Amino acid sequence: MTDTLQEAPTAVKPINHWIGGMPVAGKSGRSGPVYNPATGRQMGAVDFASAEEVAEAVAAAKAAFPGWRATSLSRRAEILFRVRELFHQHREDIAGFLTAEHGKVRSDALGEVARGLEIVEFACGIPHLLKGGYTEQASTGIDVYSIRQPLGVVGGITPFNFPAMVPMWMFAPAIACGNTFVLKPSEKDPSASVYLAQLLHEAGVPDGVFNVVHGDKVAVDALLEHPDVTAISFVGSTPVARYIYTTATSHGKRCQALAGAKNHMVVLPDADIDMAADAAVSAGYGSAGERCMAISMVVAVGHAAEPLIEAIKERIPKIKVGPGDEAGVEMGPLITREHRDRVVSYIENAPAEGAKVLVDGREGTNGEGFFVNPTLIDETKPGMKCYDDEIFGPVLGITRVDTYDEALKLVNESPFGNGTAIFTRDGGVARQFQFDAQSGMVGVNVPIPVPVAYYSFGGWKNSLFGDLHIYGPEGISFYTRGKVVTSRWPDPATSQVDLGFPQTR
Ligand code: NAD
Repeated sequence: MTDTLQEAPTAVKPINHWIGGMPVAGKSGRSGPVYNPATGRQMGAVDFASAEEVAEAVAAAKAAFPGWRATSLSRRAEILFRVRELFHQHREDIAGFLTAEHGKVRSDALGEVARGLEIVEFACGIPHLLKGGYTEQASTGIDVYSIRQPLGVVGGITPFNFPAMVPMWMFAPAIACGNTFVLKPSEKDPSASVYLAQLLHEAGVPDGVFNVVHGDKVAVDALLEHPDVTAISFVGSTPVARYIYTTATSHGKRCQALAGAKNHMVVLPDADIDMAADAAVSAGYGSAGERCMAISMVVAVGHAAEPLIEAIKERIPKIKVGPGDEAGVEMGPLITREHRDRVVSYIENAPAEGAKVLVDGREGTNGEGFFVNPTLIDETKPGMKCYDDEIFGPVLGITRVDTYDEALKLVNESPFGNGTAIFTRDGGVARQFQFDAQSGMVGVNVPIPVPVAYYSFGGWKNSLFGDLHIYGPEGISFYTRGKVVTSRWPDPATSQVDLGFPQTR
């Protein structure tokens, strides 16, 4: 099957936009290749939208907004419950797209769908989430109340590493709040988003409420500049996030731009070393290290270093690397050939920087797929590229320090502040770490502290541009704006002209 595709490029699957409740073939004449990263073969060609095609999607979303906004909360909740049921029913199919185009293994793909579904489930509670405040008799005969209203057409721009979950983080709360949505998914693994659009349609989401336009910077810029787009949610790398935030806000849009990361895991000498090693290996190599919450730097304090390194080295050869759809495989390939080469270059350069490659993941990965095996680099330090940069691959660095204070300093000096974790049995130190860590998400003996759906997700510093985190209560704030109504039903007999500034009585 794949051989045939390679020999006959015309058999490559076209991946179209989704506008106004139906698939729409691209008209720009531009498209991008979509690979199966496990084989290195091109499987699809995704349409790249022009500014005009983006404008069509925005127009469809704009036309759908008044009707959707007026749709009662109970009706919206009913539709969202159906969305939840369909996503759950088709979770294997959604996961199939993720494995085929992203490369992540089956269990990881199903985990992604499950974490995305949590956000849809949270959004089903929208009637409760949009409740405002009410003050009776704020002044004599005057009541004051607050309401939250949708923004209009909102846009989402998403990364390759969570092609289903991150779009769900955005569109579920956005449409629950009464907005209409235009998604520009990653061009590297775009099929899941179109499939989700079909399921939303099947669930009864009206045409135009959810649209997908594929593409590159041309499509992104068109969304950022379109006067009818009121807000932009972005998840991706730091340089692009900074650009998105600056451009969107300079066009008067509300923007939340979640960005890159370099997450430190501090291991104190009193930690359970086996538990810490299991956590470092799972969080460092899961999804081939292509998670913004991946642990990329283990900071070993004092005598924790040697036993921890031994325990990690013991576990690495047992990790089964291979195509994500093969039974028993635990780690898949990287997303593209270029990305694999970039990750390889960090391993290659590490010894010249003074670090020690203890386990070299370049070995045994010469096939056509975009594989790098789990890699362990010891004695990394700030100033080395293998320490400073977000490598975004299965590369775990070890940094040795003598004290907790030195470990905390490393965490806090990082320009990123997405997630961090501490492994210890000492509750007092853990509590101090939670107090001091300059990071948006902290794990205590938990390596990947992705908040549950009813909290919000987001980092600090170069890991987030904007004021509000994504999903949870902050997601509802992001996708709505507040209005306060001051109201009186006066007795006509007491009405009079009064040009003074309104005062409470
Ligand atoms: P990316 O920044 O390359 O791309 C993200 C999106 O932006 C894609 O839709 C892409 O088409 C678009 N884009 C890329 N370059 C652009 C440009 N020059 N102008 C306008 N748009 C552009 O990110 P990626 O490689 O797809 O994803 C991996 C990155 O995302 C990592 O840095 C990772 O840490 C980060 N990430 C962060 C979080 C978080 O919550 N903080 C979550 C997931 C991923």
